[in-house]
This record gives sequence, structure tokens and C-alpha cells, in this order.
Amino acid sequence: MFYLKDNEKKLPITCDNVYTTCPQCGREHKVDLEEILESGEHDLDTTQVYCEECSAERQAHRQNSTPGGAYETVQAIAQRFRVDVKVVQDIVRSGMAAGLSANACFLGARLALSMATGDSELFSVEEVADSLGCSVEETMNQLHAEGVEPVTVATSPIFRAVIEDVKRERGLNE
Ligand SMILES: [Zn+2]
Repeated sequence: MFYLKDNEKKLPITCDNVYTTCPQCGREHKVDLEEILESGEHDLDTTQVYCEECSAERQAHRQNSTPGGAYETVQAIAQRFRVDVKVVQDIVRSGMAAGLSANACFLGARLALSMATGDSELFSVEEVADSLGCSVEETMNQLHAEGVEPVTVATSPIFRAVIEDVKRERGLNE
């Protein structure tokens, strides 16, 4: 048996009285020290254990990520906007911490970087709505509320001439 010593008081360490704080949600939860030691984790000072919910969520994110893997997606976004991989990782991480799906985080990173760098990026409103889990109408309202004109955000300058041509053909020019 092992125990903790607080002055003269001895606290036995058992399989159900050891607790830690989840590094993702901060919730206190019980840990099974035997399980941790068995997993090959021997550094008690630095070992972090996610709570059951966060572990499940992280597992789901891993399974949902694209075949190329989450890291490759992050790298591709970083390359696309010529920023450090760490910048993208930070955005994705904070999105995950807020409970967003991996896809919503990638989309958020692309959206944030396109706004920050002024580089155009192509999004469909359906894509945004899907990732955010709301309707297209709600997304449009949200974009308007943010002062974002969907057409401006969604259109790369190289397509603008084409769009003008189409509009002219159809008599849609104002
Ligand atoms: Zn947690």
C-alpha cells in the first residue's frame, strides 16, 4: 500500500481516491493510477489525463479528420496563407477547446486568415452553415451581423470579371 503523508496523518492511495484536473475542460475527475502506470506513463509531475467526455471528443476528432490527417490540413492552410503552422494550430486548438468540430476549426482558421491577410478564400455559405451546425439563413444573418458581405468574402478577384459577364448576360447588372 502507498499513502500520502500530511503531517502525521496518513492518506492511503487507493484505486478510487486519486483525482486530477482535465487539461481541456478543467473539470476534476478520478484517475486510475494503475492504468496510467500500465500505459507506460511514468512521469507523475507532467502526466495529463483528459476526462471521459474530452477523451471521447478527442477520439472522435481523430477519427473524423481527413485521410491526410489533421496535421496535413493545418500545414496546407498555413502554406495557403503563408503563415507559420503554429498560428493555424493555435486557431484550431482554441476552436476545439470551444467545442467545435475539427472541420469547423479548419474552416474557422481559413476564414480568420483570409480576413487577417486580405487573401481571398472561396467558401460556400452551405459549407459554413454545415460546419457551424446552423441553417443557411442563420449563417447569412450572422455574416450580415458581422458586417461581412458574403459575395465579397466568397469571391476571389480573379473571378470578378467572370461574374460581371454572367450578370451582364442575364441582365442582372444594377
Ligand atoms: Zn474534460
